Amino acid sequence: MTESPSSLPVTPELGTPELDRLLSGYRRFRDTGWTPRVERWRQLRDGQNPEIMVIACSDSRVDPAQIFDTDPGEMFVVRNVSAMVPPFETAPGHHGVSAALEFAVQVLGVKEIVVMGHGMCGGCRAALTQELRGAERGEGGFIADWIAMLDHVRDPIVAEFGTHGRAAERAMEQAGVKVSLANLRSFPCIRRKEREGTLKLRGAFFAISDGVLHLLDETNGEFHPVD
Ligand SMILES: [Zn+2]
Repeated sequence: MTESPSSLPVTPELGTPELDRLLSGYRRFRDTGWTPRVERWRQLRDGQNPEIMVIACSDSRVDPAQIFDTDPGEMFVVRNVSAMVPPFETAPGHHGVSAALEFAVQVLGVKEIVVMGHGMCGGCRAALTQELRGAERGEGGFIADWIAMLDHVRDPIVAEFGTHGRAAERAMEQAGVKVSLANLRSFPCIRRKEREGTLKLRGAFFAISDGVLHLLDETNGEFHPVD
């Protein structure tokens, strides 16, 4: 049976260690991130004008604002399982990434979109092993559907590296970035702006184990570490 929202407690339970940790972080932010920069926050109150959009994984270890050391207002960010962009689809549905892209590209007019994959990505690993295939929705099925966007690049990776181990995983993680870039280019407005030179698309990969960012060279498909 589905639990109705009205059966949930009205007041949140206070005093959990998790909430305490969040609130102490919030107080640090008020002291160091808000109060000394109140003028900047006043400007932001009037609107945002980010020039960069980043698409990253929801993984807790790869926060774009931390990795790129940006300030509020600088980056428009979408995070989801494995930093995936779905293809341009017109079927009815709740197209969250497409809505964010539409807003960033058409309303905010961002100049760059960076797709950032990362090492040790659980979604990419599941795409490789197919361990969630056939799972019920709510029991892994939503993830399986989502990462099925990687199925068409899986075969050559499995043929070369197998389904387990870092070589296979890294190949899948980097292939995922290329799939998202290709899907970005399936959006007519993105394709047009890229052709006109008003929008740049970039692939990136953050290697968690050594903290090194790599950028994709689309002329040869290779990722190179940033100095
Ligand atoms: Zn991930």
